Amino acid sequence: MASRNEVESYLHGVLDVGRFRDYGPNGLQVEGSPEIHRLVSGVTASRALIEAAIADGADSILVHHGLFWRGQDGRITGWLKQRLELLLAHQINLFAYHLPLDAHPEFGNNVQFGARLQLVADARFGEQDLGFMATASPPLAVADLRERLSKVLGRAPTIVDGDGRPLRRIAWCTGGAQGYFEAAIAAGADAYLTGEISEPQAHYARETGVVFLACGHHASERYGAPALAAHVAQKFGLAHRFIEIDNPA
Ligand SMILES: [Zn+2]
Repeated sequence: MASRNEVESYLHGVLDVGRFRDYGPNGLQVEGSPEIHRLVSGVTASRALIEAAIADGADSILVHHGLFWRGQDGRITGWLKQRLELLLAHQINLFAYHLPLDAHPEFGNNVQFGARLQLVADARFGEQDLGFMATASPPLAVADLRERLSKVLGRAPTIVDGDGRPLRRIAWCTGGAQGYFEAAIAAGADAYLTGEISEPQAHYARETGVVFLACGHHASERYGAPALAAHVAQKFGLAHRFIEIDNPA
């Protein structure tokens, strides 16, 4: 058992929350029970995850994608009302960490995703150092990378081939970081992995020769929240369970 305040301040320190400019609040987004016994982790604070956590008897949820984002107009209606109502009715604490969890050198989405692909970063790039870069030695062929990814993701990534060069410098940033592709190219990447693709990246890949791989937003961000939650659970003696709510995005 741990107190909510103790857990929140521990997470705040570990994740160096104050360092990041983010799209929403990092930390405790919804206040529930003052004591924490049973923690559920997940990727997104969706209604399905909240219902699964309630069924599991959890008093706290830790996610990467919380409820509140810049651009919302402040009304608690529709899907937001439904999610919030469930959390409040069951006194569930909702902890959400966005960019601080992407960036963390041990529990973060990027490090955890990279480890599953046998990629260990030796450099960082891009805005707020959120891009990770590893050196593949020996260099990889696109087919090798596709095979590793398909095993880890359980599905085939979307690939825009480059110019066929051996892939020595492999860059990645999990989630919706297709906008970092140009920074990855500027940093010397031969291939760039992220969650999503938009129209421009296919053309950049063809025109620069750098391979672009879209691995799935959810699929590439499945690993940070459970790694962090497992650490917190161990430190404070809490029960923990990761609940996967699959998402084709
Ligand atoms: Zn994300």
